[in-house]
Amino acid sequence: MTKVEKAKKLLQELTDKNFLLLKRSKNVGIYLFSLLKDILPQDYLELLKGFDGYSLEKKKALLMTIRSFIEAADFSPRTFSFEHEKKLPLEKFFKKVEDLKVLDQKEKKVLLAFGIQDMQSALWYVPVRYEDRRLNTSIGTAIVGQKVALKVRVVDKGYQQDEKYPAFVKVADSTGVLYLRYKYKNPRFLARFVVGKEMIVYGKLLEYKGEKYMVHPEVLSQEEAGLILPFYYIRTKSGLKLPAKQKHKKLRAIMEKLVEYVKHMPEYMPQEWLKSNNYPSIAECLYFVHKPSHELYPLLTIEDLNAFLTPYQRRLSHEELLLYQLALRLRRLEAVSHNAVKPSEDFLKHIENFKKSLPFKLTQAQERVIEEIVKDILSGKPMQRLLQGDVGSGKTVVSMAIAYAFAMEGYQSAIMVPTEILARQHFENFQKLLAPLGVNVALLTSSVKGAERQSVYKHTKEGNIHVLVGTHALLEEDVEFKKLAFVVIDEQHRFGVLQRKLLLEKGKGYYPHSLVMSATPIPRTLALSLYGDLDISVIDQMPEGRKPIITMLFFESQFDRVVEKVRQEVQKGHKVYVVYPVIEESEKLQLKALMTEHEKWKKLFPDKEVHILHGKMKEEDKRKVMEAFKERGHILLSTTVIEVGIDVPDATVMVIESAHRFGLSQLHQLRGRVGRSHLQSYCYLVVPDEVKQDEDAINRLKVMVRTNDGFKIAEEDLKLRGPGDLLGAAQSGYFGFWVANLTRLDDLILLEKAKKEAEEILSKDPKLESYPDLKKVLLYRYGDRMDLSHIA
Ligand code: ADP
Ligand code: MG
Repeated sequence: MTKVEKAKKLLQELTDKNFLLLKRSKNVGIYLFSLLKDILPQDYLELLKGFDGYSLEKKKALLMTIRSFIEAADFSPRTFSFEHEKKLPLEKFFKKVEDLKVLDQKEKKVLLAFGIQDMQSALWYVPVRYEDRRLNTSIGTAIVGQKVALKVRVVDKGYQQDEKYPAFVKVADSTGVLYLRYKYKNPRFLARFVVGKEMIVYGKLLEYKGEKYMVHPEVLSQEEAGLILPFYYIRTKSGLKLPAKQKHKKLRAIMEKLVEYVKHMPEYMPQEWLKSNNYPSIAECLYFVHKPSHELYPLLTIEDLNAFLTPYQRRLSHEELLLYQLALRLRRLEAVSHNAVKPSEDFLKHIENFKKSLPFKLTQAQERVIEEIVKDILSGKPMQRLLQGDVGSGKTVVSMAIAYAFAMEGYQSAIMVPTEILARQHFENFQKLLAPLGVNVALLTSSVKGAERQSVYKHTKEGNIHVLVGTHALLEEDVEFKKLAFVVIDEQHRFGVLQRKLLLEKGKGYYPHSLVMSATPIPRTLALSLYGDLDISVIDQMPEGRKPIITMLFFESQFDRVVEKVRQEVQKGHKVYVVYPVIEESEKLQLKALMTEHEKWKKLFPDKEVHILHGKMKEEDKRKVMEAFKERGHILLSTTVIEVGIDVPDATVMVIESAHRFGLSQLHQLRGRVGRSHLQSYCYLVVPDEVKQDEDAINRLKVMVRTNDGFKIAEEDLKLRGPGDLLGAAQSGYFGFWVANLTRLDDLILLEKAKKEAEEILSKDPKLESYPDLKKVLLYRYGDRMDLSHIA
């Protein structure tokens, strides 16, 4: 809610028929003041300041007046005169940075260093935050706790040796006195402040025992004051050797120049969409985000701006999400417009045979999912399906059943997974179950070399290999299939849409069926919106005989108990994982810490094998460690590299160090490494003792203790931290949004709305023929990434 919306709602509640809330509430005046300080006329604001001292009657009257003022006021965004500016062809705004005449060489270098390649992406490089440096308040009227710019005069200065802030400067304006406090030990630093001189300071206004102060405020130059200052995301590794402050300055100067052209940008979104959402034009939106002003938006408040809530910012988010949904939908419509391989009626019989060969009975959920998949396949249209299921729920077996049935029909399958370790593991599993049934399974990764590799190519091309399991290596040009009918992509978020497309193209004229499998349990509605190009199947049931993993929370000081538990399990011949969070800032330190831990565990278990695994190791070495651990190891210390898919059935303990540093979904993924057989398994979450004080962290970890249900945990995660953590950094990057941010609940709501809008737009106009400019923008953004060549 924007501040005005909040204020409106509050005023309605406060002025309802018996004023109950008003009688019970404290600090109403100051709160309303803070909500409306940029909006109400000055005299109302003055009245609000004394609010708490008024009689109930006077309070009521004032609130009623303000309520009618707010409700009557027209706060719709003002249409700037951009409407009447001459519009240029949209293509001009896709110009490469190198070709932009308005920028000099240095400026171009800055943009390129920030990864900005063209005008469009420069304009969409929107500020991540803003500071309100307008000079519209005073010492006496500014709200304590807020950051403000104040024009003041130096009155006095001084130095007190033993204070926390030894140096102070006393300043004043006509409304009050303010102390600027400094930690500096050297009193000479005060020389720069001259008594009687005026200056502008910017900082957080604080108050202690009636005395107002700021700690280390910024002193603003004339040009830095009086405006709302944008701050752009400054990459540290940009290759640009400039202090951050300079980078901000440079970027601002560049944007200043570029936004002048925005006025000439034509609108490209459908008018109905703009109207129904009450959005300003693209020109106004892009102008406003870089140069926000009251003239453009009378309701402007710094808080709304920083929460990304103004209609200008909302539109950009919404538009981006709509483009994404349009691209997804177009991709899907294209995919299902072709005919795919249609196996014979025997397909079902093969599946039954496969089931009979299994050492266990499939769960009902697995049966249902297989049915859904078979139905797709027999429809003759290429299947586009996402298979979701908690770790260990038996997704792989499902894909095996289908690959087997295709092999029996003379077709080939490709299974692509993100890492070498996983590829090998999948290969072994497929081999174990399918080879006895006469299916040829092969492995292709970067470490399959020489003659062996050539042989894989040859037999894949000739169709002798029925199932090819591998990493990205499968995408290489040399990999050719004879009759590829089924493509499985495991842990799909690590692969982009385009990679899936590349693999599917190996069908050469056929359109293979595709199944993407994900162990990230995303709540259904979110999954539907994010993967709008896919149908969704869910395995929501664990194989029988699995005992729920027992999860416990320990503090570092109780570590002996963890060791004791580990000892008991190791004695039984079971295996143990110990996981440490990756602290990205310092890989070296991380590695050192891991080595120290290695020594510690070796001392604790001198007669056991303690292995160590981390992300910096070569694939080859990782594989060796995993094999050794699987065969004869006892304890495996590792960073989160083991997160995805590792299957060691007799591992029964997962110790997670500094568990508070992980998101719930990630903890759940890690926990899923144990409990993969009939054995009782345990998960021990260990946190430093000081985390005891962090109620939120403890509550979060308690969710893990309470439930083993991945979907429940995902819902909790969504509630507690927003979807960002759920999707993981890698995944949010994968969507490649510039402005939209799925960790914001508002954007999540827009994502779902956008899905419906995209469906509606495309149902009327499947090739966007009535929106040529929209199509241009869409192709510019997603043409390559999602391969939209069919509408170009
Ligand atoms: P996922 O890929 O969903 O993590 P897998 O397919 O790898 O799960 O299955 C995990 C383990 O459970 C494997 O060892 C598999 O053989 C076994 N499994 C799968 N389905 C069943 C079932 N219905 N009953 C018993 N064990 C099963
Ligand atoms: Mg799996």
